[in-house]
Amino acid sequence: MTVATHLAHRTATTAPTILELADLHVSYGAIGALRGIDMAVREGEVVALLGANGAGKTTTLRTISGLHRPAAGAVRFCGERIDGIPSHSVVGLGIGHSPEGRRVFADMTVLENLHMGAYRFKRLRQADLDRVFALFPRLAERRTQQAGTLSGGEQQMLAMGRALMGRPELLLLDEPSMGLAPLVVAQIFEIIKEINAQGTTVLLVEQNAAQALRIADRGYVLETGRITMHAPAHELLDDPRIRTAYLGETTP
Ligand code: ATP
Repeated sequence: MTVATHLAHRTATTAPTILELADLHVSYGAIGALRGIDMAVREGEVVALLGANGAGKTTTLRTISGLHRPAAGAVRFCGERIDGIPSHSVVGLGIGHSPEGRRVFADMTVLENLHMGAYRFKRLRQADLDRVFALFPRLAERRTQQAGTLSGGEQQMLAMGRALMGRPELLLLDEPSMGLAPLVVAQIFEIIKEINAQGTTVLLVEQNAAQALRIADRGYVLETGRITMHAPAHELLDDPRIRTAYLGETTP
């Protein structure tokens, strides 16, 4: 471990908790999607949430964002209960969400999409736009292009950029690598690292467990609505159960 990574690790493990999920239950009618999950994210961390299709990862992020109301349990942000608060108010508290499937506004330009991300402020701050364009130079080049005509990778960048325009302290990223070519995936993960290095805490949902764990401090594994493992990311990367189930390795 280098001095820099050691210090970063130490900061993360002693930093205050920014997000806490306590015995969280979420149901769709009779179906229990989350069945009592506990999680904590500390300031400055990248935390990966892994799990197979249908495990409940998207439901977790949507519940944090106020898009689902828990049946029981609590979501706390900076120590305050936020479950039950409407989603636009959650954005105002400092939680940004780049959703599954990107959901850019296809008929609007790149710039208009970024304006939408800044709606919690009376006026868009040039510094926020400059930050997004510095992270994603491709968006700057295409600022007047309709979002629906962007490539998948560019739409992903726009979804992340739009979330950053709300100046979040905590950024929720739902499957940012989905459907993208390996080179673009590598680029997106580099940018997530940079966003985190600039001071934004990240909760990252990914099918791409190997890439996610390489940039994460810690990881949680969700299986059919329950947390079955949580550990420092390097331990999960070395764990034979993770290697078989999520990293595509066959057992010897
Ligand atoms: P994926 O990687 O496929 O997106 P996930 O881990 O994000 O999966 P969720 O989308 O959170 O999983 O779904 C968790 C469970 O809740 C699944 O069984 C799913 O079928 C169910 N579910 C999700 N959304 C709804 C909905 N709107 N109505 C009913 N059931 C739902």
